[in-house]
Amino acid sequence: MDIIYRFDPHAPLESKGPKNNRESLKLLANGNERFAKLVEHVQDIGSGKRDLPPKIIPINPIKLGVPIVSGLEPAHEPFALVLGCADARVPLEHILDCSANDLFVVRVAGNVLGLECLGSVDYAATALRKSIQSVIVMGHTGCGAVTAAVDIYLSPSDFANIAFSHAVRSLLDRVMLAVRGSARALESAFGSKVQKAKYYRDWLIETSIYMNSAVTAYDLQREVDAVTKGLHVSYSVYDMAWTRIGALPFRGAEDFDSTPHFAPAPKTSVDFPIIAQQVIARLGKE
Ligand SMILES: [Zn+2]
Repeated sequence: MDIIYRFDPHAPLESKGPKNNRESLKLLANGNERFAKLVEHVQDIGSGKRDLPPKIIPINPIKLGVPIVSGLEPAHEPFALVLGCADARVPLEHILDCSANDLFVVRVAGNVLGLECLGSVDYAATALRKSIQSVIVMGHTGCGAVTAAVDIYLSPSDFANIAFSHAVRSLLDRVMLAVRGSARALESAFGSKVQKAKYYRDWLIETSIYMNSAVTAYDLQREVDAVTKGLHVSYSVYDMAWTRIGALPFRGAEDFDSTPHFAPAPKTSVDFPIIAQQVIARLGKE
């Protein structure tokens, strides 16, 4: 099959971005829907189900961030700031079907909020405040950083092998709050015997991935509030198996319509056990 990126030189060149957080989140959700549909299209053709004409995707040089006139530097106008994981399988512009100049992207293993990441966030939230309408934390299923933190939690004696350097320990320490909270929530949902359950490690990893995004969003909202006004932080998780983003785990295609693409950053610590219970309720459907 052919996927064709098409630039029409006669199309209007003005870049109209979203005007507020709601429009911005809608644009990102629609972008992920397009991406997921494109993946399904490729899967269907690959499995011989259908033979469709080429998929044509229009592009705009302003949104790509390339000069439309030689020697003219394009304006820096992203509409969303996204903190995501460095995992190579989660390219944020692709999974949200956005152009390069649509997103101000900060990527670090485990989408944790270290000092340098905060510096990038503060810069974007102030210097690019006119164009940026929303702030997103995007975790992902199968996250290696969260998995490593869970393994340390389950087997502290292996700490030195897993977190072999000061830098890695520092990164995993930031994920540990989400892991501990998730372990507590699993115990309160299923009793202490859950630790012996066959799926305990898998459940702890999956719950921790959603909780890690929520915890980071909570911290990020407070950080953003300290440097500017009116920027809302949301969180989501990219499910690599379904190629879709959601604030809760997917157990099958029947969950697509009932799962919000994003959730607002928790306002207080009281929100965390509630979020954990919502995630665990989805795991219980297995
Ligand atoms: Zn990751």
